[in-house]
Amino acid sequence: MGESTRYQRTPIPEVDPKERATKFEEELLPYDRDQAVLEARRCLQCAMPFCVQACPITQDCRGYIRLIGEGRFDDAARLTLLDNPLATVLCKTCYHYCEDGCVMGDRGVPIAIRHLKRAALEHGRSDLLYVPGAPRHQRVAVVGGGPAGIMCAWELALRGYGVTVFEAEPFLGGQIDTIPRYHLADGDLDRDLARMKNLDITWVLGKKAGVDFTPESLRAEGYLAVFVAIGASNPRALGIPGEELPGVYHALPFLLAVNQGPEGLLGRKHRTVVVIGGGDVALDAARSALRLADPGAVTVVYRKGRAEMPAGPEEVDGGGAEGVNFLYDRAPVRILGTHRIEGLVVQRTELGPPDAHGRPTTRILPNSEETIPCDTVIVAVGETADIQGLPTELDFNLSHHPWPEGRHEDWMTDVEGVFAAGGRSVVYAMAAGTKAAQAIDAYIARTTGRSPTPRPDPFGGAEPQGLPDGYGGPAWHF
Ligand SMILES: Cc1cc2nc3c(=O)[nH]c(=O)nc-3n(C[C@H](O)[C@H](O)[C@H](O)COP(=O)(O)OP(=O)(O)OC[C@H]3O[C@@H](n4cnc5c(N)ncnc54)[C@H](O)[C@@H]3O)c2cc1C
Ligand code: SF4
Ligand code: SF4
Repeated sequence: MGESTRYQRTPIPEVDPKERATKFEEELLPYDRDQAVLEARRCLQCAMPFCVQACPITQDCRGYIRLIGEGRFDDAARLTLLDNPLATVLCKTCYHYCEDGCVMGDRGVPIAIRHLKRAALEHGRSDLLYVPGAPRHQRVAVVGGGPAGIMCAWELALRGYGVTVFEAEPFLGGQIDTIPRYHLADGDLDRDLARMKNLDITWVLGKKAGVDFTPESLRAEGYLAVFVAIGASNPRALGIPGEELPGVYHALPFLLAVNQGPEGLLGRKHRTVVVIGGGDVALDAARSALRLADPGAVTVVYRKGRAEMPAGPEEVDGGGAEGVNFLYDRAPVRILGTHRIEGLVVQRTELGPPDAHGRPTTRILPNSEETIPCDTVIVAVGETADIQGLPTELDFNLSHHPWPEGRHEDWMTDVEGVFAAGGRSVVYAMAAGTKAAQAIDAYIARTTGRSPTPRPDPFGGAEPQGLPDGYGGPAWHF
C-alpha cells in the first residue's frame, strides 16, 4: 500500500443527500469485498490496540479487521459475533468509539472499523447460532428488553442460567426501535435475536414492572436475581405555554410512530416543522420529519451555538446536506395558536459563564423575541426514567443518568438481589448488561458457595472466552 493511500479512508458508499431526503432507506451502503479488504489493509494491527480498548464491550475489532484483510470473511463474521450479540444493529448505529481510539486518526482518517464490521457480516456467514451453557436450573429475571437487558440475558444464558425477560411494550429493542430506518433497516434487530433462539431465554412481552409485577414479587416467585434495565422512556417536557396543542410531538413517540408506518403522521403536505433540541435525537427527529415534509420545511432550534451542539457531526452535516435548517442561539418561549399551532416564539441567547461542571450557561438577551411560523413542533430535549409503581425501597440512583441505577458498586440496589443499570448508547447499554450479568453471577455464586463463571465460548467451544489474543505484532507491513 502506497504512502498516499495509507492515510486515506476507502470511501464509504452513500446515497446522494437530495435523493435520500425523500426516503426512509439506508443512507450508507456496504463496502464490496474488494473495498473492505483495501480498507482493512490500512490497519497497522497495533501491538496495543487502542481501538479495542476504546470499545465499551472490548469487541476484538483488530482481529476481524485482520481477517478481512486476509479475505477471510466467514472467520471475520464469527469473530465479530463472538463478543457482540447485537452486531447487526451496531455495525450501522454504533457511535464507533473505537475509531476515536484508532491511531490512524492521528495521522489521517481512522480505520472505518464500524463499517468493516458490516462488511464482515454482509460478506461472511453470519447466520450462526449461540450455544447455551450446561443448564444450572437457576432462573434470573430481566426487566426491560432494550440492549442492556438483551445483553444481560445473553451473558447469563451462555453461563447456563434460565432467563426470563419482561418487556412492557409488545416488542423488544427499547430505544433501538426509535432509530430511523435510514440508519437501521427493519429486521436488523431480528437478525441478531435469531442467533439466540437456542438459548434458555423466555421473552415475555406487554408486561410492565410497577403494574403487572415488581422486582420483589419476581424474587418471591423464585428468581434468584433481577436486573432492572428499563432505560429512560418518559419524554422530558419543555414546560412552556402551548405545549399541549395538537401538532406538538415529543421526539421518542414521534420516531417510534415513524418507524411503525410514517404515512399520514404529519397529515397533509407542506408542513413547516420546528424541532427543539440539539442532540442526536433532535437530529433524528428533524431528518425524519424532512422525509415527511417539503424540502426546506424543517428547522432545528437550539439554545446554544453549533460548537456546543451535542449531536454528532455526521448527523448535523448529514441533516444539513439533506436540507434541514439550523437556527442557533434561540430559546423557546411559547407555542402560539388556539386549535392548531401557528408559530413558535423564541428569544435570542448568548453564552454565559461556565456552570459547576464547566459547561457554558446561556443568557437570554432582553427584548429579543421573534416568531418562527410553523404548524408542527417536535420537542427533543431529553428523557427521564419511568419508575412509577416501582417500590421506593429500591432507592435508584438517578443523579448521574436518566436511567435507574443501583447505588452499590456492583449496581445492586438496596433490595438484595435486585440490580439496575442502563447506558447512553446501544454499546454502552450492552456493556452495562455485561457488567450486571457478571455481578449477578458473582452474587449467586456467593450465595450458593461456588466461584463465579467466566463467559463460556458463545459457540460452544471448550475454552472460556477471553479478551482478544495477546497483543501480537503487525500481520502485514507497508
Ligand atoms: C431516537 C434515538 C436514536 C438513538 N440512536 C442511537 C444510535 O444511533 N446509536 C446508539 O448507539 N444509540 C442510539 N440511541 C441511544 C440508545 O438507543 C440507548 O442508549 C439504549 O437503547 C439504552 O438501552 P437500555 O437498554 O438501557 O434502555 P432502553 O433501550 O430504553 O430499553 C429499556 C426497555 O425497558 C422497557 N421498560 C421500561 N419500563 C419498563 C417497565 N416498568 N417494565 C418492563 N419494561 C420496561 C422499555 O419499553 C424498553 O424496551 C438512540 C436513542 C434514541 C431515543
Ligand atoms: S461495537 Fe462500536 S465501539 Fe465497539 S468496535 Fe464496534 S463500532 Fe467500535
Ligand atoms: S490501526 Fe488498526 S489496530 Fe491500530 S488502533 Fe487503528 S484499527 Fe486498531
